[in-house]
Amino acid sequence: MKRQEILDGLRQSPKVDVCVVGGGINGISVFRELALQGLNVLLIEKHDYCSGASSALSRMVHGGLRYLENGEFKLVQESLVERDRLLRNAPHYVAPLPTTVPVFDIFSGLGNGIVRFLGLSRRPSRRGAVAIKAGLSIYDFLMRKRALMPRHQFRGRRTTLAKWPALNPDIKSSATYFDAWVSHPERLGIELLQDGLLAKFGAMALNYAELRRTEDGQYRVEDQIGGAFVAVEPALIINATGGWIDLANQTLFSPEARPSPLMGGTKGSHLIIDNADLRDALADHMIYYENEDGRICILFPYLGKVLVGSTDIRVDDPETVRCEADERDYILQSLAFVLPGIPIRPEQIVFQFSGVRPLPASTDSFTGRIPRDHFCTVLEPSEGGPPVLCMIGGKWTTFRSFGELAADMALERLGRRRRIATTDRPIGGGRAFPANAPAWLTQMAASKGLSGGRMAELFARYGTDAEAIAGFTAAGPDAALPHAGYSMRELQFLIREEAVEHLDDLLLRRTTLAVSGELTLDMMDAALDLLAQEKHWTLAHRASERDRFLTLLTERHGVDENMLSARNEPRSTECDTTAKSG
Ligand SMILES: Cc1cc2nc3c(=O)[nH]c(=O)nc-3n(C[C@H](O)[C@H](O)[C@H](O)COP(=O)(O)OP(=O)(O)OC[C@H]3O[C@@H](n4cnc5c(N)ncnc54)[C@H](O)[C@@H]3O)c2cc1C
Repeated sequence: MKRQEILDGLRQSPKVDVCVVGGGINGISVFRELALQGLNVLLIEKHDYCSGASSALSRMVHGGLRYLENGEFKLVQESLVERDRLLRNAPHYVAPLPTTVPVFDIFSGLGNGIVRFLGLSRRPSRRGAVAIKAGLSIYDFLMRKRALMPRHQFRGRRTTLAKWPALNPDIKSSATYFDAWVSHPERLGIELLQDGLLAKFGAMALNYAELRRTEDGQYRVEDQIGGAFVAVEPALIINATGGWIDLANQTLFSPEARPSPLMGGTKGSHLIIDNADLRDALADHMIYYENEDGRICILFPYLGKVLVGSTDIRVDDPETVRCEADERDYILQSLAFVLPGIPIRPEQIVFQFSGVRPLPASTDSFTGRIPRDHFCTVLEPSEGGPPVLCMIGGKWTTFRSFGELAADMALERLGRRRRIATTDRPIGGGRAFPANAPAWLTQMAASKGLSGGRMAELFARYGTDAEAIAGFTAAGPDAALPHAGYSMRELQFLIREEAVEHLDDLLLRRTTLAVSGELTLDMMDAALDLLAQEKHWTLAHRASERDRFLTLLTERHGVDENMLSARNEPRSTECDTTAKSG
């Protein structure tokens, strides 16, 4: 259903079973769960889908080795199960990641876990080989029944430096274990959303919209694109706004009935670095290392560049977070500590991003010790009206189980039954994933009339959804764009089918153009032209979109117009958009 149809439909029939507020990965997850059970469910997202924390993660799909220190065994076990499910259900975006921990001490950190369990000390400190060995042994134990990936392995100093010669020579040893990573988290979110929309006729979702309680105790959807206000009557509201949960409650309750704060988020930032020496030094591993202050940082090859992060700083308002200069310095300093011989020049930082971890309210002075688990609480408005189920905490890795938990609570409240489980349900382009990819590609390329190379490119980007995109691109005259690899009809498909309302939706989230540092000024303008054409924008509207995007890119991602312009290259014709003869 298109935007206008949704708003018209609500005008005619404002009653919905559930209104989910917040379209990050957790809101989308519970939306899909409920749509699959046959409920009339409406999702309302204030900005774009997966534009909050769900675009700012370290891209690890993991059990969370570090959480063992806090005694969060149940969370680690659940996360490992969900990680393995994602490897099966979303193989187009989630893949195993060998992870190596450089070890600088033998015994330090050993007593820490015990001391912390006793509540005697909460200060983070260095972890030595024995503490790391203990953690990894528990990790292996928790995975023993599935054993999808190899067990951990220790290397001595000499063999470690032989494999990673650029590592800080002060290391004593290293440990390698397996976790996983997600290449396109925002795309996985949009595909999950579409799975929900397809599951039930009448399931609806709007980005750039808000739900508000009016003075007379009713609720209305406020559409930021067309400016419409439409009344809606949900039997239950789910507040899935992550780091915004308390701010969102202010719009869902009257001032007299506002609940006490539930959330205490921390900000984390990452840099994307374009430095071939750095990328090569990683030997295709994630380096999961402690900075000198005992904070865990990560470093891994990402879309041809290197992702490095992150920080952990308390914040109150997630709306305006950005990577500040001191965070950038901290991350670069940590990099200089672990890989001292590889200088990073400022212009090699091709993108940066920041987001707020939705952590439960806590008074703990060390942010790393705040629990990472998730739970739900139901608030009953004293002034009447639908109950508000709040989703608190949660990691990206556990979005399915968190959505399932919230959905089961909602179903119970509404007296409905679960019909379909999502445990083994493939997501988006992970559906019907071929065991023999080369054969699938050959057959698909032939049937769509595209070259094998182009088909492989679409498959790498969209999994088996590449079939629909290839069908669309081959069905009309296509043209190359300044970025070799994307074609005009491919972007048109995304604009038409994936709720693109602004240029940033397309360049930051539906594609990886910006995050991979590959966006040029020419490509930005070409994409803007296409979007303006599809949306019938006036020249003035086009110009204001351009300003909006460049401001966002500069302020939030550290990339300005001059940097984009410097990346411009002579127009390339490498993208093979032509249909093969016949
Ligand atoms: C720096 C960092 C690193 C991380 N690394 C990892 C990792 O490697 N692995 C992992 O598993 N997890 C990681 N996480 C955690 C993970 O990213 C989050 O737990 C997860 O993305 C939270 O999703 P969410 O849907 O709850 O919140 P969000 O993605 O923030 O979504 C909330 C949404 O609500 C919307 N919203 C807010 N107010 C309103 C309103 N009034 N009306 C409508 N919509 C509203 C926002 O626009 C936003 O889109 C990391 C988080 C951070 C910040």
